[in-house]
Amino acid sequence: MKISERLMRAKPSATLAVNAKAQELRAQGREIVSLAVGEPDFPTPKHVCEALKKAADEGFTRYTPVPGMPALRKAVAEYYGKFYGVKAEAENTIISNGGKHSLYNLCMALVDPGDEVLIPAPYWVSYPPMVELADGKPVIVPTKASNGFLASVEDLEASSTPKTKVLILNTPSNPTGGHYPQAHLDEIAQWAKKRGIFIICDEVYDRLVYEPATFSTLSTFWEKNPEDVAVVGALSKSFSMTGWRVGTTLAHADLVKSIVKIQGQSTSNINSMTQKAAIAAYEGPWDLVDTMREAFQRRRDIAYDIITSWPGVKCSKPDGAFYLFPVLNAFYDEETPDSASMCTKILEEAGIALVPGSAFGDDRCIRFSYAVDDEILKSSLEKVGKVLMKK
Ligand code: PLP
Repeated sequence: MKISERLMRAKPSATLAVNAKAQELRAQGREIVSLAVGEPDFPTPKHVCEALKKAADEGFTRYTPVPGMPALRKAVAEYYGKFYGVKAEAENTIISNGGKHSLYNLCMALVDPGDEVLIPAPYWVSYPPMVELADGKPVIVPTKASNGFLASVEDLEASSTPKTKVLILNTPSNPTGGHYPQAHLDEIAQWAKKRGIFIICDEVYDRLVYEPATFSTLSTFWEKNPEDVAVVGALSKSFSMTGWRVGTTLAHADLVKSIVKIQGQSTSNINSMTQKAAIAAYEGPWDLVDTMREAFQRRRDIAYDIITSWPGVKCSKPDGAFYLFPVLNAFYDEETPDSASMCTKILEEAGIALVPGSAFGDDRCIRFSYAVDDEILKSSLEKVGKVLMKK
């Protein structure tokens, strides 16, 4: 058996080592708390679950059109109208198996062999492998912790070449929680347009933005420049529906048609009953999102106050998502020279699972998720602090 060259080049997940260690310790009977979670700790709203049950009971169990039911595509188009005042049609949308699948399809549709794709770091783990699987070349754009890890036009310009075809932006960001204000997003979009660079904007955390920051989106830019941008959304994070696998793409109708071609030869439509549930989610009510936003903002403040009380730590206070990404390399030493070994040490000594920054392209940092109960968050962070301060 010979595995394809393309796959042989793909790197295994950098988070596997810590997960394997956590499982080993659990099997030994150790209590492990995970601050490595990438999903809200709230149940999916009842009305969404009811819609799925009803669809099953009514026998809505057959294939649907590949890009999704027309009513769902219309609901997604209306989402951009409702929250961002953007006029979009059903033909500008396609429903895929989670935001991850939407992003993968876009890479497949847009990237040719050798094309360069700008990825500001720290980045979400899957962007570079997705670009590589499309035979493109990920070009990592360093950003500064002092700027909240947001890429500036100057940062992007410095990494661009005539081969640059695509920029993958993410706001709010996983792993940093960094949120691009609208003017900053628009400035980048204007620059990219002038440079002929297409933007894939990953907005899967778009409803999780904390006051006084205000929501931002490239869907408004897309409305006026539909050939230059695609916006990815999902019900996963904003609606606490990670396991349901509903991802969305807002794009020019021609790009949507290309993605229908990919999806039509690979996955076809997403689960038909889930589509009915997704329509219920988009129709609302949206109370859960407000509840989650309030809880996450409170927990962000709790986590930020504890983490920044540790000496030598640099951490920006992010405006979105549910992660903090402090610079912790002041605590590295010969025994724990990097983020992976530091995470292993914290796991072994405090029983807390975290994700090393190396997985996201910044080895100085460690990602803390605050999508856990307030008291667990406090006690876990205090335990982490004790391990760091022991020297
Ligand atoms: N984009 C970012 C930035 C994410 O953090 C995630 C999930 O962790 C995804 C996309 C994928 O989301 P989904 O679960 O909808 O596939």
